[in-house]
Amino acid sequence: MQPHLEALQDAKACPLWHDSDEQPEQLPSLDSDKQCELLIVGGGFTGLWAALQAKERAPEADIILIEQTFVADGASGRCGGFLNTSLAHGETNSEHHFPGESEKLEELGTQNMKEFLETLERYNIDARYEHTGAMSVALDEESAGRLHEDYEKYKAAGDDVVFFDKDAVREQVNSPKIHAGVWERDGQDGVIDPARLCWGLKATILKLGVRIFEGTKLLDIQPVGKDRMKAVCEGGVIHSNKVLMGTNAFRGAIGKIRRSVIPVWDYQIATEPLNEEQAALINWPNTRHALSDYNNMFHYFRLTKDNRITWGGGGAVRYYFNNGTDRSLEQVPARFEQLSKEFFEYFPQLEGKVKFSHKWAGIIATSTRFCMVPGTAYNGRMAWSVGYTGHGVGASRFGARVGIELLGYKPTDILKMQFVKKKALPWAPEPLRWIGVKITQAELTRADKNGGKRGLWLKMLDALNLGFTC
Ligand SMILES: Cc1cc2nc3c(=O)[nH]c(=O)nc-3n(C[C@H](O)[C@H](O)[C@H](O)COP(=O)(O)OP(=O)(O)OC[C@H]3O[C@@H](n4cnc5c(N)ncnc54)[C@H](O)[C@@H]3O)c2cc1C
Repeated sequence: MQPHLEALQDAKACPLWHDSDEQPEQLPSLDSDKQCELLIVGGGFTGLWAALQAKERAPEADIILIEQTFVADGASGRCGGFLNTSLAHGETNSEHHFPGESEKLEELGTQNMKEFLETLERYNIDARYEHTGAMSVALDEESAGRLHEDYEKYKAAGDDVVFFDKDAVREQVNSPKIHAGVWERDGQDGVIDPARLCWGLKATILKLGVRIFEGTKLLDIQPVGKDRMKAVCEGGVIHSNKVLMGTNAFRGAIGKIRRSVIPVWDYQIATEPLNEEQAALINWPNTRHALSDYNNMFHYFRLTKDNRITWGGGGAVRYYFNNGTDRSLEQVPARFEQLSKEFFEYFPQLEGKVKFSHKWAGIIATSTRFCMVPGTAYNGRMAWSVGYTGHGVGASRFGARVGIELLGYKPTDILKMQFVKKKALPWAPEPLRWIGVKITQAELTRADKNGGKRGLWLKMLDALNLGFTC
């Protein structure tokens, strides 16, 4: 058997983050009709942060949160845990879609991050935050050159950045694939344990009086009269004044949400904890960088507190025809095999020495603007924030803030920004959607192999403001 397949043989089909004695008990499902002021749908970061911030702004608000399976079962409990300040998937994307607002968005991102970390302190939430900064690595000489240009730009803007050339970068993380690296170490970017964050938020909002029903799916939702909403759920009906949808790319009753995002599957694997000998082979556990490569189809990889490597992204990312979200897609052997193969291309010195302990996948809500899409319906009685496109760990707290402000909880000037008001371009219908995503993915891969040079298709998307650039 090939070594990369052998390394996967005993991997457990379960998100690493869920596999813990600390996972809280699932709360009972809804079993009778209820009333509340605010109904929140979705037990991921968006829903949990929305409940917490609504309670902080209006302590008397009567809030119910429902989750169709269990808190942290969506993207939030399955993600890489990279905590990033950016709200709009980086400056290039933000300038592209919201011209003139990138400075304000940066300011809001920094404020969001500060409040995020202060909240963890305030409520004693141990999300295993590590302040690592963010390190981007180039995989060929051409990309190394472009990365160096970025470094010069960041430095000129006064950022605290370090450039590592080919020799220096291998002291930071020893991989023959890596040609250079830029480490952005100012700000608060880092890594967290995402399930622990969900669990901590869940415990906190319960203490603040939010009622949570797990195993409770929203089936249909309709307005009633001028100021009420009726949510038909498994187990009962909930009447509320307001509804916040934090449902990511799961397919639901609201057409505007369905058209704004598509479900893109992202697969991950995690190694067993590295021992000292394995760690010494790659240097990395000394520096503990949170890494991603400087590609369109990028890998992201990090260390956990117990020195496992989690590894995701690259060529294993998939959109399945007609918005496939079936749970069987969580375990597609070919995706894990590809990830494992790519892992050992990065770290050949670990081949035959390290095994994977976990394999899993989750759904990324991807929007045509590659960052969150807020919206409202039913005369402002319903709001949502979806579509963080792979950058949702930090941004979802802000998305939740936008959502509750749209519902009238102490609204601020952020609601006047294009970032909130501008409509996202809807995705094309099938089969154009699937064909478009396939071609784009193939072209992004081609550009990555070609030192980042974008072909005609990507240039056309760029011209239409639809080009994905990291
Ligand atoms: C594999 C992977 C890796 C990622 N890595 C990173 C990363 O490192 N850094 C980063 O910033 N972002 C990352 N992301 C993105 C990030 O995880 C998401 O943007 C973020 O978690 C979205 O939070 P959410 O609450 O909106 O969605 P979710 O966490 O998916 O929560 C939505 C919840 O709504 C529930 N729901 C849906 N429909 C219904 C219904 N009808 N009734 C009741 N409940 C319903 C779902 O069950 C789900 O629990 C990653 C995503 C994935 C999948």
